[in-house]
Amino acid sequence: MSTETATLSGTSLAGIIRERTQDEARTLEQHGVRPVLAVVMATDDESTRWYVRSIERAAERAGIGCRVLDLGHDATEQVLASVLRDLAAEPSVNGIILQTPLPAGVRADALVGLIAPEKDIDGANPLSLGRLAVGQPAFAPATARAVVEILDHYAVPVAGRNAVVVGRSAVVGKPLSLLLLERDAAVTVCHSRSGPLGTYTREADIVVVAAGRTGLLTGGDVSAKTVVVDVGTNVLADGSLVGDVDGNSVRGVAAALTPVPGGVGSVTTALLLLHTVEAARNQSGSLIAESGVLQAAG
Ligand code: NAP
Repeated sequence: MSTETATLSGTSLAGIIRERTQDEARTLEQHGVRPVLAVVMATDDESTRWYVRSIERAAERAGIGCRVLDLGHDATEQVLASVLRDLAAEPSVNGIILQTPLPAGVRADALVGLIAPEKDIDGANPLSLGRLAVGQPAFAPATARAVVEILDHYAVPVAGRNAVVVGRSAVVGKPLSLLLLERDAAVTVCHSRSGPLGTYTREADIVVVAAGRTGLLTGGDVSAKTVVVDVGTNVLADGSLVGDVDGNSVRGVAAALTPVPGGVGSVTTALLLLHTVEAARNQSGSLIAESGVLQAAG
């Protein structure tokens, strides 16, 4: 028997988050604070450049300043480190993104630790992941938060449910598993060595796939109760974008599925900007509280 699989689009939720971001940016502006996001990049990769331009445009629409520091494809680790240190100390910058890919030989691990935790709006600094792990306030990577926001938006129950996360990277799988655990899900994390996926996913209420492998999850891996969130983004030879889920076979079996594009990715970009205004609010909180003008946003 075929199941009617609901499509959990991210576009309406992204619109709601954008409105909230604009409202918060306007409130801050009324008190003399203009949130500013700095994007550090060192690549000629066209799709990355396109992505950064899209962040710039979205920031402008939201009333957020966006400074792109394009250091060129041959930037050294020393130059990148020095720019990140300067940004950490620069009071007018509230959020920092270190955009990948980085030039060959540059150690991303060494650089992300230089992103000031209070400005780490994409949760890249290991300190942010550590804080998430022990339940302290920190920015989660926007993609990980996007998954949880989508589940909430569509009122998918998480507490007490069986959630499987496919992928264990520091930017998606691990922080997401922490966020789901924080929400009282029973979380299983799968990876390239965990064996046949279906063994885990067929029993799951929620399956989040973040592996970067086209067609990894198929209809035979899910059941009628499964809500599937597809984080994967894979560019095919013809330039089209697909996720990690074989939509053709999963649709008709699972309870629900997020589309690619138009799912997690659109919410992720919106959240990066929301995190920037949240960072600006946190950083100016004491200043504004002292002048007694921004009680509501505190
Ligand atoms: P990553 O660092 O390459 O990690 C991939 C993870 O998937 C690894 O943990 C890997 O296992 C696991 N994996 C690979 N093949 C597998 C298999 N056959 N079965 C089970 N697990 C497997 O990638 P990432 O940065 O986390 O990104 C994952 C995907 O999400 C990519 O497609 C990326 O483009 C996409 N993404 C999307 C957004 C968005 O906003 N939509 C944002 C970030 C990333 P091992 O650890 O054992 O190698």
